[in-house]
Amino acid sequence: MTGRSDRAAVPDCAPECRGTIFELKRFAVHDGPGLRSTLFLKGCPLRCPWCQNPEGLSAGIRLWHRPRSCVRCGRCIAACRSGALTLSDRVHIDRSACTRCGRCIEACPVGALSLDGRVVSPGEAADMLLEDRVFFQDGGGVTLSGGEVFVQWPFALEVLKRCKAEGVDTAIESSMYTSADVLERFLPLVDHFIMDIKYMDAETHRRVLGVDNRQILENHARLVAAGADVLVRTPLIPGYTATEENVRAIASYLASVDPDAKVELLNFNPMCRSKYAALEWEYPVDGRALTAEEMAAFHRILEAEGLRNIIRE
Ligand code: SF4
Ligand code: SF4
Repeated sequence: MTGRSDRAAVPDCAPECRGTIFELKRFAVHDGPGLRSTLFLKGCPLRCPWCQNPEGLSAGIRLWHRPRSCVRCGRCIAACRSGALTLSDRVHIDRSACTRCGRCIEACPVGALSLDGRVVSPGEAADMLLEDRVFFQDGGGVTLSGGEVFVQWPFALEVLKRCKAEGVDTAIESSMYTSADVLERFLPLVDHFIMDIKYMDAETHRRVLGVDNRQILENHARLVAAGADVLVRTPLIPGYTATEENVRAIASYLASVDPDAKVELLNFNPMCRSKYAALEWEYPVDGRALTAEEMAAFHRILEAEGLRNIIRE
């Protein structure tokens, strides 16, 4: 393992190489092995209706308002010189008028306004991730997530290079919606690939998520062929992916590629509804988390299709 002072040995990316991030999660336990620091990158080409991180969908930075914190004092309205804010039942944001100048954020007495991202260099991002490296013993490390990591792949690559140069374990959480060429560049820098397969049916994938699944499945096969450590996750979303037919099709595909494939079914978590309220978007999933019995029934489908390496929450 090299010391932090050796980081200058890592070649710098182009001066314009910067990334837009929206969250750093410390002591994460679900983003790869051990305790991890996870950095979330903005921008995603998929449009999953149930997205748990809607602030990661857009690659750009936007103003956020949290109605639950707001005391409706109107100071933000007075501070805004662009006429981008109005106050009625709540503060409404005209995003086409907002210049993200930050005056309203400074004026708010209760912190109900913020920007949903910031721009950092690869070195700054690596420093943020490595701050807690003392806790990365026993297999922990750093994870890049999103959004979709590959939307900002030159930045992500530079961050991973810096972490690898420090001898730190690395992971990415991704849809794997990227080209073979780009994926190839990540292979030597990533210890664990965590990817979603949400639908097997190509038409359903296109209609619900907005993109084809061919590239995703081809990249999964590439990772397996390269001997990479891969965990495939399927989120079980009521009214969408949580059907016997879909889970059976995914399990059948995975078993045909590799019966020892690591696979995990993720239960639906409706906690993200407040984020949609902040964006003044409707959350389209009208369901609840699956019961233990329902989860067990889906796990039995994986077993019946021959999968032997099932991760249970
Ligand atoms: S960030 Fe600036 S332009 Fe946007 S709403 Fe706030 S004060 Fe107005
Ligand atoms: S300044 Fe803050 S608390 Fe007051 S209305 Fe605006 S967002 Fe709400």
